[in-house]
Amino acid sequence: MENLKISGDIIIRGEKGFDELVMGTLFNKIDPKQRPSMVVIPNDIHDIINIVRYAKSVGKRITISSGGHSFSANFIREGAVLILMKNFNQYSVNKDAMTAEAGPGVGGSVLMKALYKENLFFPAGHCKGVCIGGYLLQGGYGWNGRKLGIACQSVLAMDIITANGELVHASPTQNADLFWAARGSGPGFFGIVVKFYLKIYPLPKYRAIMAHDFSIKHLDDVYRWAYEAGSSIPKAIEFQMIMIQKMLNILGPGIEAFAPIFADTEDEFEEAKTFMHNSPIKKKAIIATPAFNPGIELLYKGTMSHYPEDHHWGVDNMWTHASIDDLLPHIKQIAETLPPAPSHFLWLNWHPGNLKTDMAYSKEDNIYMALYSCWKDAKDTEKYNNWAFDTMRKMEHLAVGIQLADEGLHRRIAAFMSDENLQKVQEIRAKRDPDGLFYEWHSKPIFNERMKELVND
Ligand SMILES: Cc1cc2nc3c(=O)[nH]c(=O)nc-3n(C[C@H](O)[C@H](O)[C@H](O)COP(=O)(O)OP(=O)(O)OC[C@H]3O[C@@H](n4cnc5c(N)ncnc54)[C@H](O)[C@@H]3O)c2cc1C
Repeated sequence: MENLKISGDIIIRGEKGFDELVMGTLFNKIDPKQRPSMVVIPNDIHDIINIVRYAKSVGKRITISSGGHSFSANFIREGAVLILMKNFNQYSVNKDAMTAEAGPGVGGSVLMKALYKENLFFPAGHCKGVCIGGYLLQGGYGWNGRKLGIACQSVLAMDIITANGELVHASPTQNADLFWAARGSGPGFFGIVVKFYLKIYPLPKYRAIMAHDFSIKHLDDVYRWAYEAGSSIPKAIEFQMIMIQKMLNILGPGIEAFAPIFADTEDEFEEAKTFMHNSPIKKKAIIATPAFNPGIELLYKGTMSHYPEDHHWGVDNMWTHASIDDLLPHIKQIAETLPPAPSHFLWLNWHPGNLKTDMAYSKEDNIYMALYSCWKDAKDTEKYNNWAFDTMRKMEHLAVGIQLADEGLHRRIAAFMSDENLQKVQEIRAKRDPDGLFYEWHSKPIFNERMKELVND
């Protein structure tokens, strides 16, 4: 057995401050009742290679966290070596090449703010604190995502430390199997990403947000409007609605319809604004804001008000193209049972085009529905923790699968990629990580006919 020697920090289970450190890594404050055997905070690639060698020599498995913002915290496993990637937080931008290089510990909002200053853009996530490590591995639903597509489509290459303890470059032409699997396998990926090479975009010239706030009594009209608008909603709008018990923190229960607009041309901008202006139910709104540009700070502040820190979270989701008549009874039930704000129900009109990129990521659909239950006091965990999972279970016959972004696979099994892709990921895993140094997802669906038969036997 080797001793672990790295230039970064090593904190062993049982040492003073260990528990606070582990719980401090979690955005979701629910105690997973498991603890790693040690937490390591590497400073560089050599440290990580030494950690991999050490873990193998002592027969321990490895987990990785970049920003700690996954709701299910797959990186907390009993007895594992937990690698915190917070020191991999450097980035650089090459404006001529329209590319950027960034470590997994870079916050999406940090990258976005740096790019804005240079009139550049990347479809980073909607909240502060989410790091690009976990975000890009699972897919990445970011700002302007309906136009730019899922964010991992803008990853050009990655540097990865494999289960062999080798640093490799993964791209469409080098280690293409790893590159394919890394874009979409999220918390089930079997390698340590130490750098992303990203494609970046010009900052859309016309940026604004419009919002219509409706009382809950208009639930039927609001969801029918959103559903029927469907794919006709201009792509420059990332249309979404939030049902919440306390709209804008002052009003009562209702639905906030948001239209963040990222338009490249004046025509595109006008088209986007017209969609909201001409809404047939606009007159029913308590508040209908004109288009205004909130700037990057306020944009993040607005979304963060729905995702406060220091809370416990029970989160689950589904993709669907079910009919609105099938969905509405469930939406009404959500309204009747929704826990107190800031808990909420998110509806997103995604309506993707065909996914042209060949990668592990492979599940999306017209409508995204996610339930976020959150509560401050640990004593309320029993009261609110099951709501999202139980409610999703009642609707799962209408779903085609889930996003890994808001996965709750520790509580409910669901399909997060196509059967074919899941099988391929597992084949690559068997080759790249034959001894299972890295963990899989908390759960996964039965993905092929033979396995289904075995279960039925
Ligand atoms: C407030 C909030 C807002 C969010 N908003 C969005 C959003 O707008 N769009 C969206 O798509 N998602 C969003 N998410 C979900 C989020 O993108 C995912 O949970 C993502 O995994 C978080 O990345 P992280 O690095 O912060 O998380 P972590 O919890 O640290 O990582 C999640 C998992 O990814 C793997 N991982 C992380 N880093 C590495 C690495 N370097 N190498 C290998 N594996 C690694 C590990 O298996 C880990 O368990 C949000 C989550 C929260 C809490």
